[in-house]
Amino acid sequence: MNNYHLAGLGIGPFHLSLASLCDKVENLKTVFLEKKPYFSWHPELMFEDADMQTSCFKDLVTSADPTSPYSFLNYLVSNGLYFSFLNTNRMVITRKEFELYCQWVTSQLESKLRFNQDVQNVEFKENLFHITTTKETITAENISIATGHRPRYPHFVDRALLSNTLFHAKSGNLDKVDLKDKKVVVIGGGQTGLEIFTHALKGRWNKPSSVVLVSKRANLAPLDESNFTNEYFTPNYVDAFFPINEGRKQQIVKEQKLASDGNTPSHLENLYKHLYLKTLTGEGPKFHILPMRECLDIQKQNNGYQVTLSNFFIDETETLNADIVILATGFEQVIPDFLKPITHLIHKDESHRFVINKNFDLSWDGPSTNKIYALNFSRHGHGISEPQTSLMAWRSAMIINDLTHQTHYFKQKPMDTFVQYTKFED
Ligand SMILES: Cc1cc2nc3c(=O)[nH]c(=O)nc-3n(C[C@H](O)[C@H](O)[C@H](O)COP(=O)(O)OP(=O)(O)OC[C@H]3O[C@@H](n4cnc5c(N)ncnc54)[C@H](O)[C@@H]3O)c2cc1C
Repeated sequence: MNNYHLAGLGIGPFHLSLASLCDKVENLKTVFLEKKPYFSWHPELMFEDADMQTSCFKDLVTSADPTSPYSFLNYLVSNGLYFSFLNTNRMVITRKEFELYCQWVTSQLESKLRFNQDVQNVEFKENLFHITTTKETITAENISIATGHRPRYPHFVDRALLSNTLFHAKSGNLDKVDLKDKKVVVIGGGQTGLEIFTHALKGRWNKPSSVVLVSKRANLAPLDESNFTNEYFTPNYVDAFFPINEGRKQQIVKEQKLASDGNTPSHLENLYKHLYLKTLTGEGPKFHILPMRECLDIQKQNNGYQVTLSNFFIDETETLNADIVILATGFEQVIPDFLKPITHLIHKDESHRFVINKNFDLSWDGPSTNKIYALNFSRHGHGISEPQTSLMAWRSAMIINDLTHQTHYFKQKPMDTFVQYTKFED
């Protein structure tokens, strides 16, 4: 049986970053396993024109190792794209470009990545993790989990009603939906909801009769990308945030919502212009943007749905009739089923979440020489940068330094942030 120093479970951007930075570390034997047949990035929500919310310098490796062959810059140069890319004058690329870059990295790391491998079970025996996939069992001294988040269905969604006319944005139904002459309601005013609203209005899935966007937020609010806010996405900020008390962390993460979950400003600008021009010509479907509404209920009605809202701007209840309801209600973290054989050994907090140490390893009852790393499981512990790509290379580097007990990366600590959160001493 093959034995590895580290087995990574799931291959999204976060493990691709880890695999890329591990590649340079001599004698570190790694393997990464993915259930999909090839690398794809949220294909259910891949709108080709959608911009990323992060700079192209925040790629898989650059902040830890700008000399890595897996940088975005090397992707551009290796594929003859460099000069033309510069002429586009952009620092922010589209999601499609990011996916293409990741697919190129995947092709460079072929020997370390295995696709079509659905991880079914992880056991711990004789100081080794035994990982069973649909194809094989391998062993590893350490594992890392980055299996992503799953769609979130709020309390007002009766899961028995889910169908091809009432579905979550990431369910795959968008691929085959036909909105022709339909009354469409999109619930959720985050970036996903906004993108679906825009594309529905522009006829991507044929021309609906009306499109309504319902949001709990006070308005369509832009992502806060301002200078001082961006300091939240730095290693020093995570260092300052990590040790403070749980209650305070929760409150801070909530207050920072627009720094990570706001709407892409260029998208808002283009949408506003589109709505204005549409109004001039009177063309296209009717539309309504309904903020400050909490969805209370969705009931089946004839061939469609009745959606009940609480308008908390005027404290009134409202009802909408819809043929199609699309839920853009976000994502939630789940402990993967394959961990069941060892979950009793992993420490959890009062909210049943993993207790995650500073270097992203789980606190557990197993030997300290066998680590379980978890990526994108610690927004509550490490802060709002955790689900973002901004610090993924830094996080990968911290994991590698911890795993190997050597400072392979970040030998030079980044300079302090300008805003100071730690104790001030004159
Ligand atoms: C539409 C969208 C756009 C986003 N845009 C940005 C952005 O612009 N900037 C930013 O910073 N962040 C963005 N994010 C947030 C975040 O960067 C992404 O969600 C990112 O994909 C997280 O990476 P990941 O590797 O943790 O998870 P994922 O990309 O979800 O990858 C997890 C992988 O694990 C695999 N897997 C799951 N279970 C198993 C199993 N049992 N066996 C094998 N494989 C398994 C899945 O198939 C999947 O490929 C975006 C999120 C979404 C949903």
